[in-house]
Amino acid sequence: ANAVRDRLRIAIQKSGRLGDPSRALLTACGLDWRESRDRLFCYGETLPVDLLLVRDDDIPGLLADGVCDLGIVGRNVLAEQAAERAQAGAPAVAAELRALGFGGCRLDIAVPEDWDWQGPEQLRGCRIASSYPQLLRRWLAGEGIDAEVVMLSGSVEIAPRLGQADAVCDLVSSGATLAANQLKPVLTLLRSEAVLAGPVRPFTDARAALMQTLLRRMDGVMRLRHSRLLLFQAERGAMARLIELLPDAEPPTVLQVDGADTLALQALCHGAMTWQRLEDLRHAGARGLMVLPVERTLA
Ligand code: ATP
Ligand code: MG
Repeated sequence: ANAVRDRLRIAIQKSGRLGDPSRALLTACGLDWRESRDRLFCYGETLPVDLLLVRDDDIPGLLADGVCDLGIVGRNVLAEQAAERAQAGAPAVAAELRALGFGGCRLDIAVPEDWDWQGPEQLRGCRIASSYPQLLRRWLAGEGIDAEVVMLSGSVEIAPRLGQADAVCDLVSSGATLAANQLKPVLTLLRSEAVLAGPVRPFTDARAALMQTLLRRMDGVMRLRHSRLLLFQAERGAMARLIELLPDAEPPTVLQVDGADTLALQALCHGAMTWQRLEDLRHAGARGLMVLPVERTLA
């Protein structure tokens, strides 16, 4: 695990919810790979950064064993493993380096729809099914509630109907799966999204510089995720008010167009440029509004 290495190895989910967005993020950071035929290991071409395509549950263990240097995984999976290690008295091996803004979900307690929910006390003595036994136990202990945790690695949401449990503690995004199983969410234990997980202590070999490069590019990509270049023209008198409508913009460039009264503005805006925002700008006097994608910036 402590071998000196000059390539960086990143574990991502092979398929599933996080696979494609993880690859897309790394591709946007300028990485590419020579595909190996089994596609378990992808050898980095432009940078010495290789990919390991695995089941998400395996990522914390691969980091712990030093097989991989970085991983993209749900905070829920990382937190469950961290709680498990803490419980066993083992030191933490992986830290959350960045939240990545996709794969958003919650780890919720859900109960049958016909329960008249009064509060956590109601879980006393219940059987609660979950794939996150450590996080659930830790939360129950914090609340001082004695309940039985039923560990299930999948299909948690049908456990109450099968009589295996009274309630569940499961991942929820839209809530449609819960509703389809006549369950309702009542409490949130953890807000999750995909995160970049990495070593607790910095590398001391060539991987340190590689990781710096990757993090800098990732920050750039994430900062630009919703960024657009906004262009419009307006009368001089309307400009101050229009700029007030751009609180998420970098300091804009304002140019004089013809004569003295028409100005053109260009601004890099970091918030979502919705139709509503464009309509508000138009209402405040902007004309010829144009929104352009931003490919890269380099300060
Ligand atoms: P694998 O085969 O890699 O083990 P999996 O079935 O365990 O896949 P997915 O269902 O693809 O995993 O979920 C991966 C991650 O996506 C979850 O750990 C979680 O962080 C996130 N996620 C986002 N929304 C949801 C959701 N509604 N249900 C489950 N996971 C979700
Ligand atoms: Mg899994």
